[in-house]
Amino acid sequence: MEERKLWLEAEKKFRYDSNSLVTCPNCKKGNLFITDIAFNEKDISCGGERCIKCTNCEKFEIVLYRNSVPENWYSKNLGL
Ligand SMILES: [Zn+2]
Repeated sequence: MEERKLWLEAEKKFRYDSNSLVTCPNCKKGNLFITDIAFNEKDISCGGERCIKCTNCEKFEIVLYRNSVPENWYSKNLGL
């Protein structure tokens, strides 16, 4: 599968489970982890950016959530 598609797959997995174990589409060695950055920390429902990054090669992709945020949006930052 081409790399772009694998990143999209990863985004989908994280949308349902923020602790998903996903192998990096780039180096195929590291695992991916997410960091959510809200546009407005006082109102996280406004959405923001989700950075999906590899623990090994540090390659990352940014996903924008503007109107519909995933259910687990920001959950890691809230310690849930
Ligand atoms: Zn990697």
